[in-house]
Amino acid sequence: MTDLLEKFRPLAEAREALTQSSQDPFRVIIERILSPTEAIVNGHPMILAGTNNYLGLTFDPQCIQAAVQAVQEQGTGTTGSRMANGSFSGHLALEHELAEFFGRRWCNVFSTGYQANLGVIAALTGQGDVILIDADCHASIYDGCRMSGAEVIRFRHNDVADLCKRLARLGKRCANTLIIVEGLYSMFGDRAALREIAITKREYGAYLLVDEAHSLGVLGERGRGLAEEAGVEDSVDFVVGTFSKSLGAIGGYCVSDHPEVDLARYVSRPYIFTASPCPSIVASTRAALQKLRTEPALRVRLWDNARRLYDELKGLGFRLGPEPSPIIAARLGQKDETIAFWNGLLDQGVYVNMILPPAAPDGSSLLRCSVSAAHTPDQINRICRAFASVKAALSSDLTDCHGAIRS
Ligand code: PMP
Repeated sequence: MTDLLEKFRPLAEAREALTQSSQDPFRVIIERILSPTEAIVNGHPMILAGTNNYLGLTFDPQCIQAAVQAVQEQGTGTTGSRMANGSFSGHLALEHELAEFFGRRWCNVFSTGYQANLGVIAALTGQGDVILIDADCHASIYDGCRMSGAEVIRFRHNDVADLCKRLARLGKRCANTLIIVEGLYSMFGDRAALREIAITKREYGAYLLVDEAHSLGVLGERGRGLAEEAGVEDSVDFVVGTFSKSLGAIGGYCVSDHPEVDLARYVSRPYIFTASPCPSIVASTRAALQKLRTEPALRVRLWDNARRLYDELKGLGFRLGPEPSPIIAARLGQKDETIAFWNGLLDQGVYVNMILPPAAPDGSSLLRCSVSAAHTPDQINRICRAFASVKAALSSDLTDCHGAIRS
């Protein structure tokens, strides 16, 4: 018999190894946050290039003002679930505004984007149903699948032929099948092949859920996401998303024309058994949604920055995702090289996300940047220069090392 806590030993050893060679990425302390794109980290000024703050709204004066006013008028928290304690009028207003923005009849708001996926997937599907999931979907989608008790079948990332093959095998069960994909995938920033997926879904009579966590405010003429950009909103049954990226707060939602989304409130455990979003969050999210709707220039600036960074890093020889996007991930070689690179960037004053196996799809090690509309041209230049200089320093280290071995 092994001790209950024995399972932590490999984790402790892995963390020890990480801290020997570098800073522990889980212990980076943002000592002072200065703006959507700058902070003081370990006493040094840092450009934030991994925050998902796509529209840069976290310091927007109107969003802040709305949050402050809500705290003053309604207090710091709701201290309970909507089921047990009732809804604040702000919850209903936010749901109404989101439904209207998406041109849908129904909207449910959840306390986080993670819970939105758990709550919606586990309410829509259960034993006897099938979920067909893109292999690269986010952990919250996988966890929702597990919670649902449905049969879960993965199809190869963005491979519509593989999806078709699996639907064909299901025959009549397609009517009990929910297909789940993301708008922009969170690791490499690539788009789902949504037009083809929508055709397939219609052909087989299945349901389609799209997680637009990274595409709200980023894609589509009005910022509604990939379904809008691809012109297939009519074929998407359920859109899930989060307030924690373009809207600069925390929380999640599902919008749909199916009235069952509203009924799901009565059965969705991640909706019922947790406290509802606090007034300041609801207020700043409503203000941010208003900005997203009325200031398309934010989206233009975001894409200018994204294309510039993508092109520059590609020009420097980094292996990136298949298309420019506000999520730009450089695939590095070994884990050690990635850790060294990430530390080099920190020394240069640039903070990006380090993704080590097994977190990234296909076991790769990544340095993931996310671009913001709030990045200035100078900050984008400095991010590029940092990547170039760390690359040069590390390859000269390698050359020295090979030289030493040869001599
Ligand atoms: N879906 C996707 C695709 C995500 O990337 C994330 C978070 N990164 C979530 C859902 C969960 O959202 P939140 O962090 O707002 O809970």
